[in-house]
Formats: sequence, structure tokens, C-alpha cells
Amino acid sequence: MAWLENIFASRSSLAWGRECELCKRPMDRDGYICWECFSRLPLVDQSSVCRLCPRELAGTYERVLCGDCSSVNIPYFDGAASACHFEGEIRQLILDYKYNGRIYLAKDLAAMMYSAAGIRFDISRIDAVIPVCSTLWHRLLRGYNQCDYLAMFLAKMLGVPCMPRALRRKGFPRRQAGLNAAERRKNAKNSFRCRGGRRGDVKGKTVLVVDDVYTTGATLSACALALKKAGAKRVYCITIAVA
Ligand SMILES: [Zn+2]
Ligand SMILES: [Zn+2]
Repeated sequence: MAWLENIFASRSSLAWGRECELCKRPMDRDGYICWECFSRLPLVDQSSVCRLCPRELAGTYERVLCGDCSSVNIPYFDGAASACHFEGEIRQLILDYKYNGRIYLAKDLAAMMYSAAGIRFDISRIDAVIPVCSTLWHRLLRGYNQCDYLAMFLAKMLGVPCMPRALRRKGFPRRQAGLNAAERRKNAKNSFRCRGGRRGDVKGKTVLVVDDVYTTGATLSACALALKKAGAKRVYCITIAVA
């Protein structure tokens, strides 16, 4: 995807005169969100989250797992982190990124994910970055898979390969939106397969799976299950935001 990096590179050389995507004031850094808006984003307090997922634990210091993860639905991943809460300006930004073709935001969003991952996981152990694949229908509809670009930038920052085609969806799953937690889990489980071979050799590897928003964790848990079946040693997950 060298052509894409070239587009980003040429755009960033035109950074002067550009406005911040959020406050519309002149940019003070190389990117699309200014420092002040960055500092106002509702970041997740990584010191008070569930040991497994990105949910903040309210007030209880003894608890290490949230209600979701300590129940019968223990996720298959070894850890999941999110940079922000899915609210306010960042929510709109993610929706614009996902649905309104503003894919140039990927670099700024990936930078936020990178710093969150760095706090939560030992990122020096990560061997590869894998995006959650969208359904063929969504790719045709949008023309791109938003997770691919995030994964590509994260892989570059981590200095490891990106495996955009490692995961494959099985069959024609129902949309996750509009389903309750139990239905989501049932719908998502076994809905992914790891391709293995040249495109997805994860045997013995620690991998970082990339998605945009963490809702119930059902999709990421299903991806982790598929990757572990294919021999992955550890599966960490990172999303921009947690709903
Ligand atoms: Zn701003
Ligand atoms: Zn949890």
C-alpha cells in the first residue's frame, strides 16, 4: 500500500495553512487534530481498567475483572485496550472516518491507539498487526476497510509486519448493530477463520488485532479464537474507542 503512504506524505507536506478537523483553528502539528483538541479527548484512564478489556472499573479497587469478563463470557483475547471513550467529538470523528470517507484521519487515530497499547501491553513482544476484516458487502459499499489503514500505521509505528488478509469471515453473518450482548456473542463466535499460510502465519506469534470501536468485545473475542486455533501464542486487541 505504498501509494497510500505517498498520499499521506504529500498531504503532510502541505500541513501549513490546514485547519484542525475539530476546532477549525490553524494546525500547530503535523496531522489533522491540533494539540489542544487532542488533549481534550475523553481518554480512557488505563490505570483503572479491567485486566482483560478496555472497560474502566468504577471505584472498586479489589476487582480486577469487569462484570462482562468475570462472568461465563471470558473473552479469548489476552487483553484489549481502547484509547478513548466513544463520546463527543471523537465519536463523530470515528463515524466520519468509518462512513464519510475521511480515511486521512487514520494516522492521527493510529497514533492514539499506539500510545494506549504502549501503556497496556508489552508492545516489544508484538510480532504482527492484524486488522479485523469487514464483510465483502461492506467493503463494496464503502470501497475500503477502515481497519486496514489503522493496522498499517500501527504496524509501521511498531516496526512489525501488517497481515491485512490473515482473517477471513465465514459465511454471511448478521450485522452486530442492533443485537444484544448474548446475541452478539452467538453471532460472532466462529464467524472468523485465520487463513494461515503466507497471508496469515501466526504460529507461535504474539499478534495485535485492530478494530475501531469496542462494544461487547464479541467480534474481537471471535477473532482471537480463530487466531489461537491457528496457533497464535498471544492475542492483544486495540480499538480507537470503547462504547
Ligand atoms: Zn483543534
Ligand atoms: Zn472486562
